[in-house]
Amino acid sequence: MSQNQEPIPCGHSRAILPCKFCETINCKSCTDFVEPHEFQYGIGTDLYVEAGSYCKSCYQQKVIPVLEQYEETLKKAKNINIYDITQSKETRRISRKEPWIEVKDVLDRDEALIRMAFIAVIRNFNTLIDVDIKSVKVQNGTYQHSVWTGRSRPTDY
Ligand SMILES: [Zn+2]
Ligand SMILES: [Zn+2]
Repeated sequence: MSQNQEPIPCGHSRAILPCKFCETINCKSCTDFVEPHEFQYGIGTDLYVEAGSYCKSCYQQKVIPVLEQYEETLKKAKNINIYDITQSKETRRISRKEPWIEVKDVLDRDEALIRMAFIAVIRNFNTLIDVDIKSVKVQNGTYQHSVWTGRSRPTDY
């Protein structure tokens, strides 16, 4: 970050925020922000934008289109058919040729499920079967907490 008084591209003073895409430095009012949880279910997919500051032009051209697709995908992900691993009777006739979708180190059970559903929708499936989500204890010094791992198979039903 530069500490000198050179004019910045937006023409204002107090240049503090480099755009994460084009690295142009702008003032706060010429910057748009992606909040830390805004794309949380898109982690590991193309529908993800890192939290941080973006110049207005990159935000319009590169963040908004991803955000629109992200929101549409998330809406579908919340509505897909879900069959738990224990429901093998109901799903025994369903094809299992697709590889497993796996997620790791997720903070809660619901998020693990939506993350897998999100990936399934991106791949054009409408159903998850053999859904198996488990918590794993993680020891971090004297501090212990749980994270969740999940796997499931995407399919069309
Ligand atoms: Zn930019
Ligand atoms: Zn400015």
